[in-house]
Amino acid sequence: MKTCIICSGRTGSREHIFPAVLGGRRTNKGIYCGAHNQQFGPLAKILADQIRAINALLGVQPDHADNPTHLIAKNPVDGQDYAVTGQKIENVQPHILEDVILPDGSRGVTAAFSSEQQLQNWLAAQRASGAQVCVAGPRKEGFTVFAEPYSVHLVLGGPDGLRAIAYVALTFLAHHFPDIARQDGLSAFTECVLGTTDEPPPIWWDFDPAIGDLPAQQFRFGHRIVIGLSASRQEAYARVSFFSTLNFSAILGSVKVEQDKTVIIDIDPLAKRPPHDIHETTSGAALAGVTRPASLTAGLANDIQQGGTEARFWTLLDAIFTWQLDQTAEELLPQINAARLLDAPERPLRIRKILDGQRQRVFNLILHVVKEFKTQLLADPKFAAVAPSLDAIIAGDPNSSTGVTQRAFSALELGLEAITAHICQQLNARDMDLPQLRSLLGEGRGAAIAAQPILDHWMEKLNT
Ligand SMILES: [Zn+2]
Repeated sequence: MKTCIICSGRTGSREHIFPAVLGGRRTNKGIYCGAHNQQFGPLAKILADQIRAINALLGVQPDHADNPTHLIAKNPVDGQDYAVTGQKIENVQPHILEDVILPDGSRGVTAAFSSEQQLQNWLAAQRASGAQVCVAGPRKEGFTVFAEPYSVHLVLGGPDGLRAIAYVALTFLAHHFPDIARQDGLSAFTECVLGTTDEPPPIWWDFDPAIGDLPAQQFRFGHRIVIGLSASRQEAYARVSFFSTLNFSAILGSVKVEQDKTVIIDIDPLAKRPPHDIHETTSGAALAGVTRPASLTAGLANDIQQGGTEARFWTLLDAIFTWQLDQTAEELLPQINAARLLDAPERPLRIRKILDGQRQRVFNLILHVVKEFKTQLLADPKFAAVAPSLDAIIAGDPNSSTGVTQRAFSALELGLEAITAHICQQLNARDMDLPQLRSLLGEGRGAAIAAQPILDHWMEKLNT
């Protein structure tokens, strides 16, 4: 029987080796006792909270959870909270658009609901509070677009975050090297994980990871844990990298090591179950060894000054948005090419229907072009005065279920029609391919096509 690596007590509670909330799928019963397993639960949660936004945008599903991670984002236009999961955005609460007293003394409420369930819950809550309520008017399907970007809060590290990352490293050491994990030389490190010392944790942001001798990461947004043992240094060390972007290094302690060894574990947070959730490599050498910097925080201070930490998050967000675009294009391409079988009058209707789910994307393209155009005009003395009137084309409206004004809604329709027409024209000749569709849905080509009729219309009005 194994003993708890912290207290030598009896183990048996099933511990996720990589935290379940981050998408870890593997467990080990021989690392911690029940009490310590429980004590470390909050550490996994700290980590999950810190990178919640990224997990939500990737749609990472915590192990044994029914739903993927979501992020609550406030729409700056209507002030409502929305739940973001992957590419899905839904309002958390019903959006009450109108609440008036009718001539007969009753109340008339118009509201947007994200689901039938949300509507039923709201009706039940009204009834529970004593109101007699029924669905009076016509129900119609709608959508909301964000006319302004929501903000994402990202903080990783800090004393608690580092403790949490140290805990991940310690658990992997215990899983792969159970004997080493029970040596006394690790006590300073385990005290840091336990939070029973005021010493700074022997783990730090690594902005210049010397990973040249490590194999390439196996997964697009993979996490990587490297556990190394060095015989020449009699030392155990670790590297922890989240999403192949955010890197940490640690020295776990002075331990008795007979032979160099390294285990490299790549974890795919997008895999819903084993066996393809991890990829493990081992080496008989101490690869990518780490050296404790003179100051554990100097690297971070330096990097923040140079904007590196923020830049890393941006790089990651950029990669996620690129991936989302790839996914969308791959999903829609067969549907779009299948529309070639339809007769000419039906084809645009089908394409337009397929694009209905892409309103936010198309609106983002229009936003981008109109804002750029406005900046250009502002710099030109001849047009600077009329430039601000462009804002009306893309304005949000907190009282509209679409999230935008009637005028912006019309602009969006124009943009969607323009892209539909372009796709139909292309289908006349041949099937579309992925790069073509990608460029229409999320890049310059699509932006130019979607915004052209809108800007033409704006200029026509300007000239009259
Ligand atoms: Zn214990």
